[in-house]
Amino acid sequence: MSDELHPEVYFEDLELSDDVLDALWDMRFEKCTPIQAQCIPHILQGRDLIGIAQTGTGKTAAYLLPMLTLLAREHIDADAVNCLIMSPTRELAQQIDQALQGFSYYTGINGVAVYGGNDGVRFEQERKSFQQGADIVIATPGRLITHLQLGNLDLSRTTHLILDEADRMLDMGFIDDIKLIMKQLPAQRQVILFSATMPPEIDAMAKEFMTSPAEVRIAVSKPAEKIDQSIYVCRDADKPAIVQHIFAEIHPQRVILFSSSKQRVKELTVALKRKGFNCAQMHSDLDQKERNEVMLAFKQRKTDLLIATDIVSRGIDIDDIQMVVNYDCPHDPEDYVHRIGRTARAGREGKAITLVNEKDRHLLARIERLLEEKLPRRPLPPGLKQPEEPSHSEPRKQGGKRRGNPRSNHLAKPHHDAPKNVASPQRKKKRTQQKKGGES
Ligand code: AMP
Repeated sequence: MSDELHPEVYFEDLELSDDVLDALWDMRFEKCTPIQAQCIPHILQGRDLIGIAQTGTGKTAAYLLPMLTLLAREHIDADAVNCLIMSPTRELAQQIDQALQGFSYYTGINGVAVYGGNDGVRFEQERKSFQQGADIVIATPGRLITHLQLGNLDLSRTTHLILDEADRMLDMGFIDDIKLIMKQLPAQRQVILFSATMPPEIDAMAKEFMTSPAEVRIAVSKPAEKIDQSIYVCRDADKPAIVQHIFAEIHPQRVILFSSSKQRVKELTVALKRKGFNCAQMHSDLDQKERNEVMLAFKQRKTDLLIATDIVSRGIDIDDIQMVVNYDCPHDPEDYVHRIGRTARAGREGKAITLVNEKDRHLLARIERLLEEKLPRRPLPPGLKQPEEPSHSEPRKQGGKRRGNPRSNHLAKPHHDAPKNVASPQRKKKRTQQKKGGES
């Protein structure tokens, strides 16, 4: 169905509002990604929709662009929250908010991002913005529930709900919160759900709360072909020596080192700082301000090496990562794909090295089953011993889902250098001329 290739679709060919097209023109977004080409017409028709796609496919624009068009078309209540977007993490909420600011530039539609972990001043600002009627609210479930419980927010006129990374919300234990939120919406509403996978709980929720949803599925469960992936099978105690060996070969710059626990992240950060590496840590013990600072310093290249838990494995938009090192083998094969997907973005090349200890060999087997390939093993650095071969490498029978063909979809970042103060009819004319002239 939707896995098939489709002819190129230009944003201009879709029924998007002029204000949205103007913003896209400024950002040099011209052609749709597959998820956008397939989702936008359904959403514009007001249909419920299930989109099975991951970060990097352009899913944010796939729902924001038609939503902005719909809100502009509908005569929306100025004092109501018309559209609610739920995100599992603050980082993703902020990223959606940033995208919204770009796409809504000419629309006059306003949005507010609402997430936990901030100070009382921000909480009060959020409350005020609900009262004034934020057109679009982007929220993490916990924070939204707090506002709902305090009576700060009324969802009875919220006619559009978008759930982004629904499977992640399930993993994080937010499913009941989401159901509670769904129950507060009016009967006549549009529900749009994006998820990288469709676990049974999400499927059941879709059946309960959605009306004959359209389904669009983009298979990108495999990492980009440009990622040079390799494995060290090693003893857990030898991991620090291997990391040192890797960083002696490749001086880390734009590198993310993932570990499965925040304790290990903290220890590794101390150890690597002592060795003189310019590194920073990222995990859920940091408050929002600290997280923002760490991410900004890394984005601005003030930090060379980010040591992180899976908090940054999804939804973070940094395109030029040189290498991802998995200090611990991820438990979920999809997390592996997400983690290493931080590198080789936007058509660049990248490296992903994973350290697998004796206990985690079965996890590696699951990853290799998902990828349908055996990843190359690296020889251990001199002096380190091979771990003992277990009698069987895969204790549990899990996973093994067959996936479709890999489809790398690495997109250039938008350029914001076009003049924004040109009057809209002129911009429209320019867009039309550009299209007729066949320029890219
Ligand atoms: P997402 O999957 O929504 O996180 O988007 C991944 C990246 O692709 C973001 O940096 C977007 O700004 C960019 N992007 C999304 N759609 C397009 C498009 N049609 N053309 C160019 N870049 C895009």
